Order: sequence, then structure tokens, then C-alpha cells
Amino acid sequence: MKSIATILNQQSFEKKDILALLNANEEESKLLFAKSLEVKINNVGNSVHLRGLIEYSNICEKNCLYCGLRVKNENKSLYTLDDEQIDNCINEAIRLRYGSVALQCGERTDKDFTQKITQIIKRIKQLSDNKIGITLSCGEQNADVYKEWFEAGAHRYLLRIETSNEELYYKIHPNDAKHSFKKRIACIDDLSSIGYQVGTGIMVGLPFQTIEDIAGDILFFKEKDVAMVGLGPFIPHEDTPLWKYKDEIPNDKERMLLTLKTLAVTRLVMPKINMVAATANQTIDKMGREKAVMVGANVIMPNLTPTLNRKDYSIYPNKACVQDTPDECANCLDIRMKTINHTILYDEWGDSPAFLEKQRL
Ligand code: SAM
Ligand code: SF4
Repeated sequence: MKSIATILNQQSFEKKDILALLNANEEESKLLFAKSLEVKINNVGNSVHLRGLIEYSNICEKNCLYCGLRVKNENKSLYTLDDEQIDNCINEAIRLRYGSVALQCGERTDKDFTQKITQIIKRIKQLSDNKIGITLSCGEQNADVYKEWFEAGAHRYLLRIETSNEELYYKIHPNDAKHSFKKRIACIDDLSSIGYQVGTGIMVGLPFQTIEDIAGDILFFKEKDVAMVGLGPFIPHEDTPLWKYKDEIPNDKERMLLTLKTLAVTRLVMPKINMVAATANQTIDKMGREKAVMVGANVIMPNLTPTLNRKDYSIYPNKACVQDTPDECANCLDIRMKTINHTILYDEWGDSPAFLEKQRL
């Protein structure tokens, strides 16, 4: 069997190498993290891009078994930001010099919703004089809708596959017409064909998930040649069906370590992609976002959602920064990144170098 040090010196990685890295012990993990940081600095530098997060609405038609926004969760008060609130978010992004925003919400496919998103995209472009880049994360839609949003000005889209193992997919989603593994993959393909910078990702530490599954996920990112990856730890939510497995999954510390290893290996396998340091990291570890940046992440999503509504975007419990104002978020992040020798890039779209390189070919 090859040593971790030998594998880390390779330029390409087979599934058995990825498995060995994900199984690294504490000492070996230190080598892995040092290497993934080096690969990150050499390929995308020590800068961090910002995506000001606007959680537009918590209304969702789907019923994912892990998420607090699922339609069958009756313990949530529904909200949708109005035009004035959206304008405030956009103006805050401009004032705080965030070069990009990410518009995220529960999934709806009705025309009122899809047209509203088009209108918001145009509004972001109008208010920022075309200067702010837009990432969408509004779930599965038909190709025509994705096209409409792209033509309106959105250019990045984040749609996590959640797991690339179809069998596991149906253990964490209902097996019905609204939840289709094949449709989710088709959406990722549609987004790429339309020209979006496509991001995908997973939750780490799900019930029934194995290391073999995570290795398969990393190979899935590579096979789809995505421009961005957003992955973070699974956090059990009391009002969801997967809550009952909370004592059967790895504990917070173990899930954090496995998330860091997954980020690090993904960085080795795809050196030039953009990778998000998910807020979920900070929910289970106070230094979670910094740790994610130190092993390979280069994107952070400070929250712009009005403080009043944030608690209702309860994907998982105890979300970090729920009480912070946008100013507090911005200052806190700046200090946190400086502490770990990273620089935040303001007023920049921060496109994925992997995507830009592919475009030049
Ligand atoms: N509705 C869109 C979708 O599902 O793609 C976008 C919003 S959804 C809330 C964004 C992401 O939240 C999902 O892709 C999922 O990975 C993550 N998420 C949901 N429930 C979670 C949980 N309990 N723990 C960690 N992440 C969770
Ligand atoms: Fe809805 Fe997305 Fe949550 Fe699934 S993960 S219930 S689609 S918000």
C-alpha cells in the first residue's frame, strides 16, 4: 500500500488514492492539509472571494428528508423578501463592496416565482450598474428557466448533488416525482450547456454515507468538470425525518474533520476551482470557516438577509451569525481572514479560474 506522503506527491489521483487520503489518521491529515493549502496558494492564491448571501424565501415545494425548509415542516413561519428588502440587500452589497451576491431560496417552479427571480437578477444589475456578479441557488428548474435567468444576467449556479450515490440519494429524499436523482444530474448538465459556471457539492456525515460514497462524490465533481464546489457538514434538524439518526452519525468533531479532508482532497483533485467555506462549518466549530479556508476553500458567503428573517431560513439549527448585522459580518470576516494570512478581494466577481481557463481553450 502506498504511503500518504507518496500519494500527496502525485499529480493525479485514482479512487484508491482518494480513499486512502479520506481515511488519513490525525498525523497523516496534517500532511494532507499542508499539501492542499500549498496547492491552493499555487493555483488560486491566498485571496478569498465574497458572495453576499440573500436568502430570498424559505418557501419550498420539496420534501428533502434533511432540510428544515421542507414543505412538510409545519414549525416554520414562511417569508419572502419584498422589493424594498431586496433593494436594501443589493444596496448593502454595493456599500460593503461585495463583488458578487448569491441569491438562494427554497424551490418553486411556478411562473410567478421564476419571473420574480428574473426581475431580481435585472434589479441587481440595474442598481449596481452591472458591476455585481450573480450566483443563483434556486433549485431544479427547466432548461428554459435556467436560460431566462442566464440571459437576465446570472452567470453562476450552485446545485449540490447532495450525494452522487443514487441509492443513498433515495435514503435522504422521498422516492417520488418531485425528487429525482436523474433530474438533478440533468439540471447540472443543462446549466453547463447554457454557459453557467456550475457549482455542485454534498453534505458530509449524512446517515448511511460511507467514505466510499464521498470518494465517489469527489470523482463526480471531476467527471462533471464543475467550476465550483460547495460542501459542508450535515447538521441534523429536529423537525426533519433524518433527526432520528442523529446519534448514529459521526459526532461534530468527526464530521468537521471529515469535511476538512473532503475539501482538501477536492482541492488536490481540482486545483483551480472555486470552493466555498460553508457557514455550516462554523455552526459545528467556532473556527470552522477559517479551517475550511486553510485546507483549500477560497469563497465565503457573508449574510445579507435582513436579520429579522434569518432565523426563519432554518435549513439546520443554530446557524452561525444569525444575529449579526451586515456590517458586523463584514468586519468580522475581514479580521478572521487577516488572522489566517488571507486577503479578502472586494469589488471583484471572483470567477472560477478553472472555468476561465476552460473558456480560453
Ligand atoms: N433549494 C435549493 C436546493 O436545494 O438546491 C437551494 C437552497 S438549499 C437550502 C441549499 C443547501 O442546503 C442544500 O443543497 C443542502 O445541501 C443544504 N442543507 C439543507 N439541509 C441541511 C442540513 N440539515 N445540514 C446541512 N446542510 C443542509
Ligand atoms: Fe427545499 Fe432545498 Fe431544503 Fe430541499 S434542500 S427542502 S429543495 S430548500
